[in-house]
Amino acid sequence: MSLIKVKTTRRTSFVNITHLVKEEVRKSGVKSGLCLIYVPHTTCALFINEGADPDVIKDIAYMLEKLIPWDDRNYAHAEGNSAAHIRSSIIGNSRIVPIEGGELMLGTWESIFLAEFDGPRERKVIIKTMPC
Ligand code: ZN
Repeated sequence: MSLIKVKTTRRTSFVNITHLVKEEVRKSGVKSGLCLIYVPHTTCALFINEGADPDVIKDIAYMLEKLIPWDDRNYAHAEGNSAAHIRSSIIGNSRIVPIEGGELMLGTWESIFLAEFDGPRERKVIIKTMPC
């Protein structure tokens, strides 16, 4: 098990953590198996999508803001960050990627992103590799 820390700099930001996950997979020595990536937080999430064109994640952030606005007078949660909890719940706090030949089997354009919805904060990412 590895625990890495990721610092986010804005309320909403998507951080490409692919290189960090790849490094942990290499260190684990697992040649064929699974890599679990998990964030133990309620206002951030993990997703896998295009990392080549930065406009893709810009559009994802734009649409999440539109669908789940930060301000809504009907939110009940007193902390004032309900939108972050909802976005985090919808996207999810873990991903599993197959490992083959000691490498993550990500598609050509795929990257792993930590999605911050209530930053800036320091976030923990737990990475567990399993041979199978
Ligand atoms: Zn809250």
